Amino acid sequence: MGNLEPFKVIIAGGGVAGLALANTLQKADIDFVVLENRDVAPKIGASICLISNTGKIFDQLGVWKTICALNPPLTNRYHVDERGRLFDDSPMFREAMEQTGRPILFMERHFCLKTLYDNIEDQSKVRENTGVVSFSEDEGGVTVLTSSGENIRGSILVAADGVHSTIRRLIAESVAESDPERSQNLIRPYTSSYRTVFGTSPSRPEADAQASDGVVYHVYSRNRSGITTPGPKGLIFWFLFIKEETTYTTPDVPRYTESDAAASVEKYGDLTACPGYLFRDLWNTRVKGGMVTLEEGVVRGAWNNGGRVVLVGDATCKTTINGGIGGNLAVEGICNLANELVSLVRGTPTPTTQNITDSFERYEQKQRPRAEIAYMSSNMATRYEAMDTPWLRFLRWLSSWIRLGSETKAIMGYMGPAPFLNFLPDPDVDGASLPSN
Ligand SMILES: Cc1cc2nc3c(=O)[nH]c(=O)nc-3n(C[C@H](O)[C@H](O)[C@H](O)COP(=O)(O)OP(=O)(O)OC[C@H]3O[C@@H](n4cnc5c(N)ncnc54)[C@H](O)[C@@H]3O)c2cc1C
Repeated sequence: MGNLEPFKVIIAGGGVAGLALANTLQKADIDFVVLENRDVAPKIGASICLISNTGKIFDQLGVWKTICALNPPLTNRYHVDERGRLFDDSPMFREAMEQTGRPILFMERHFCLKTLYDNIEDQSKVRENTGVVSFSEDEGGVTVLTSSGENIRGSILVAADGVHSTIRRLIAESVAESDPERSQNLIRPYTSSYRTVFGTSPSRPEADAQASDGVVYHVYSRNRSGITTPGPKGLIFWFLFIKEETTYTTPDVPRYTESDAAASVEKYGDLTACPGYLFRDLWNTRVKGGMVTLEEGVVRGAWNNGGRVVLVGDATCKTTINGGIGGNLAVEGICNLANELVSLVRGTPTPTTQNITDSFERYEQKQRPRAEIAYMSSNMATRYEAMDTPWLRFLRWLSSWIRLGSETKAIMGYMGPAPFLNFLPDPDVDGASLPSN
């Protein structure tokens, strides 16, 4: 027997995944509430790259034009050695834009989140400083207890609460006795062998002439590497990656302080970031920045609790930053989940728990292979750019002389099969709202 309460989605977490889902449900006329532990769209100095298939979904949601208007398209990827010498140049971003009709863009993560938030018509549905503490479930729905002691009722709970997901831990605890292996998979899903010092810094006019707009610089060095790109508004987005001395497993990963970051910059920051800048310079002039360890992996075992609770985004899969696809993957997951949910609710407005769990499983069947590809390719990119093994150092040397493959082909191969929202018009077919650039 189905439940008789109107369908409502409780979203835990107002990051990229949570806000993308809120926008998607708004488009589908499905009720929702977002519960965010902290402020929405905090300014922490991180940047994010959005690729063309995310652009298509954001186009369907009505936010892509705003994003394109304020962030210039990327054109090339420059591969640079540790002395700042260019050894390979790929026009992959420009070619991907020509083939998809959508640019690939770098922007402040804060801007991306704010744009998604601003597009939500009823912002009272986004509750800041309201964390999910626990949940309980019955055949009619799910009840969430918040950090302010309130009970909130919904039909399903979507855990978009990030890499250290509270909800993933609660599911793990609930099966600790009956299925200890599954419990451990949920509690300790990721490993971490690299960390990043990241930031946003103002560019210097005298150095600007040297660093080209639209270019992403990938700097290779032994056991460290970097990504830098001049962004909009005279800002430079940058990441310095450093190999950890040991491999950590989530949740036992270090939480770094500002002085830890400063010590790492002191030791490793003499690397060229892009023409005119060392990472040390960028750290010293940062507007904002920090240091985090880079977890990676795909959660093994089901991404749902066999009931009305499902994991999305970084709660299911974590990729290193070198591939630039973690946030994009989170949006893809939202798309795959929403396609299942919308079809379910439109066919059965009061679905049973079994109907719901089946739809969660169909979402995971589509998303898991994408997550595995994203995780593996990012894992390889991180190790290649940090020249982690003798073989990778040889490949890196070889790549100065022989092109090892087409980067455009690789990114098109990844983006080609990506999903879009199948209950909304296809903007590529209808030309509904293609951005002008
Ligand atoms: C420095 C940095 C740079 C990155 N750059 C890129 C990039 O260029 N391209 C890219 O694609 N990806 C990038 N990523 C990865 C990308 O940001 C993540 O994959 C993406 O943010 C995942 O989104 P999410 O919503 O799943 O998780 P998060 O962004 O972590 O959001 C989770 C949210 O849940 C909230 N929360 C936590 N616990 C609770 C709770 N109990 N109740 C309620 N709310 C809770 C948190 O406060 C947070 O706001 C980067 C990551 C980092 C750290």
